[in-house]
Amino acid sequence: MFQKILIANRGEIALRVVRAAREMGIATVAVHSTADADAMHVRMADESVCIGPPPSPHSYLSVPAIMSACEITGAEAIHPGYGFLSENAQFVQIVEDHGLTFIGPTAEHIRIMGDKITAKDTMKALGVPCVPGSEGGVATLDEAKRLGAEMGYPVIIKATAGGGGRGMKVASSAAEMEKAFMTARAEGKAAFGNDEVYIEKYLQKPRHIEIQVFGDGKGRAVHLGERDCSLQRRHQKVFEEAPGPAISAEERARIGKVCADAVARINYTGAGTIEFLYEDGAFYFIEMNTRLQVEHPVTEAIFGVDLVREQIRVASGLPMSFEQDDLTINGHAIEVRINAEKLPDFRPCPGRITQYHAPGGLGVRIDSALYDGYTIPPYYDSLIGKLIVHGRDRPEALARLNRALGELIVDGVDTTVPLFHALLQEDDVQSGAYNIHWLEKWLDRALAAD
Ligand code: ADP
Repeated sequence: MFQKILIANRGEIALRVVRAAREMGIATVAVHSTADADAMHVRMADESVCIGPPPSPHSYLSVPAIMSACEITGAEAIHPGYGFLSENAQFVQIVEDHGLTFIGPTAEHIRIMGDKITAKDTMKALGVPCVPGSEGGVATLDEAKRLGAEMGYPVIIKATAGGGGRGMKVASSAAEMEKAFMTARAEGKAAFGNDEVYIEKYLQKPRHIEIQVFGDGKGRAVHLGERDCSLQRRHQKVFEEAPGPAISAEERARIGKVCADAVARINYTGAGTIEFLYEDGAFYFIEMNTRLQVEHPVTEAIFGVDLVREQIRVASGLPMSFEQDDLTINGHAIEVRINAEKLPDFRPCPGRITQYHAPGGLGVRIDSALYDGYTIPPYYDSLIGKLIVHGRDRPEALARLNRALGELIVDGVDTTVPLFHALLQEDDVQSGAYNIHWLEKWLDRALAAD
């Protein structure tokens, strides 16, 4: 097992990794920008290294700075968290070339899944069901129009290098194709330096269902069921739950096995998430994330496992601590993402926290790097905490969420907490009857009513 690991991240996820490592008796190194000198992850880690000025390209994304921090502290392995360098194959290669361990999959697996066309081809070949669409990239507008006519509108044009909801455009008719095609290409080029796009049938009322997988890198893999992350704004998840209210035990076992078998066959290492759209009883692969997800705690809650501990174990060469048959679901869990944002337009709202009180009690977990007097810097993501509740069933989890939200105090900045209070009043949220468009429509109606 490692003696010391470095965490190439910040905020709640850096803290999450510190917590797992400490329970395992592993020393931790935090890295931070000058804006984060007072951050909780820096205070909680055993050591810390300042790696640069506030803008992430000069700190959290600076590979030389992070490699130097490893060198001077003697860390043997790097946990990337999510975001930043977590899905950067080049970084993983450099880590490996320096004789250090990347806590995550190989550079090769990250490369394959980072390109959406290659990922889809790979998954299709492994027997995973995909959204009907173009065979590979679509190079010209003429070809795009021909495919649109053939497949039937609406279609979605997606940048192969896309991510974070960027580089995707819907065309509802042939007339809209030119603009959608050109915009998706331009966004892909501007945000990811790659203008290749592909086309998929646009599903009209799917749920977002993702399967958590875990592999040992030696041909063994398991699945840990699904998470339903259909409540999204601008393709960004805000509320996630497990198990999915629309998924039966048979469906879970079937799609879970397909996913576990697929990652076992490619000798995948560590945690991964295979994302699907689910409509009328069918699953359609959209992408694989080769890292820990923000919403992993709902899976941890219902299966009673520590996914970060497992990632560290497997990266150090130990076998997985569970097999498929050991994994049984207990109850229901929900996570809400608390962002420092001002409603109704979700504008980032950095600033000083004048008062912070975290909820507690049975079945409540809060993953947050906040503290009284902390100043949220304006340079990074607006996620300031995740509230996760676990109950014996979905109604109990919902009631607990309502209770815990009522106890939470975050003063000094605006947050998305009022959104969740309002959502819990909705019958569709109470009954779980929503798809990926539900929240956008609800927000439009709420704004119109104001
Ligand atoms: P990203 O990598 O940017 O997160 P994804 O491919 O995971 O992109 O898609 C993000 C979201 O976009 C999905 O959760 C879904 O809401 C929507 N989406 C993607 N593909 C389709 C599709 N074929 N039909 C309908 N919605 C889609």
